[in-house]
Amino acid sequence: MHLFQPHDLVDLEILNDERRFPVHNLYCIGRNYGDHAVEMGFEVDREAPFYFIKPASNVTQSGQVRYPPGTQKLQHEIELVVALELGGRDLTPAQAMECIAGYAVGLDLTRRDLQIRNRDKGRPWEIGKVFDGAAPIGPLHLRSDVNDLTAGRIELLVNGQVRQAGDLSDMIHSTAELIAYLSTLQTLQAGDLIFTGTPAGVSDLARGDVLEGRIEGLAPFSVTVV
Ligand code: MN
Repeated sequence: MHLFQPHDLVDLEILNDERRFPVHNLYCIGRNYGDHAVEMGFEVDREAPFYFIKPASNVTQSGQVRYPPGTQKLQHEIELVVALELGGRDLTPAQAMECIAGYAVGLDLTRRDLQIRNRDKGRPWEIGKVFDGAAPIGPLHLRSDVNDLTAGRIELLVNGQVRQAGDLSDMIHSTAELIAYLSTLQTLQAGDLIFTGTPAGVSDLARGDVLEGRIEGLAPFSVTVV
């Protein structure tokens, strides 16, 4: 790509719909399931959510992810992804729900060794979370088709074996609370995606692994590490 030539904007496939969903920012919520906070060595903190941002360019729907450079510890985090069709600031939880376009199954792929090494040095974790293909996402399901997902099984299988399992109702901060909270810190915009956190069971991936993400009410979604 040459500077000043238009590049491909990132957009998502919408299930049973010919339109595409244009992607703006990816907000990724940390430690929103108690059992995952514990497995990462932290106590459960219900005070306020925290988050980091991945660039939209990390989104992939190709069904394949290249094992990223610079790591020996690529890990999966299955997450419910919420897509916003409206934004705003200082939203109430009720207003927040009215901003939701739909839901998708997503993976917050993580170079865990780089994340932890930088975290422990007091540096940003970004190098652990941001790389090509770091945000595989299944097709967007419009809210009108699936209703609101506040409970239901969430699980990740690797090569047919269940590695992560939980329930959306286990989230420490609900989807509505997350959107409302984020909107107090930065204006949310149409096209924003919110990765709502992952349950326990994160583990290492290798080339050739086939991941299947499942969230009750959504179509399963598969990614191969190449
Ligand atoms: Mn995550």
